[in-house]
Amino acid sequence: MEAYNKEELKSKIIELIKKSEEDLIEIRKMTEPVVPENSLGRISRMDAINNKSVMELAQRNKEAKLSKLQRALSKIDDPDFGKCSNCGKGIQAKRLMFLPESTKCIHCAAR
Ligand SMILES: [Zn+2]
Repeated sequence: MEAYNKEELKSKIIELIKKSEEDLIEIRKMTEPVVPENSLGRISRMDAINNKSVMELAQRNKEAKLSKLQRALSKIDDPDFGKCSNCGKGIQAKRLMFLPESTKCIHCAAR
């Protein structure tokens, strides 16, 4: 199995964390309270509420992703980092580069 490059992976995770934080700032701007009914028509108010719940879901997903990335970054120096939590084998280097927060190898994750 091809080993991952720790330094390369580390900078990748830092880059992804930075990007997630920037995305979260944008998303948070869009989840601000819906403006009062009288300033919008009924339909656009409903749109605004729908958009708000979509954005809130996006926000939760981003926050979850961000905390997984932060956890991955804090564990990268552990001897067990990069090993599958299910079968204990090394997680494929390509998979780690693409999804550094993975805790399972591609075979176990696909099950
Ligand atoms: Zn596995």
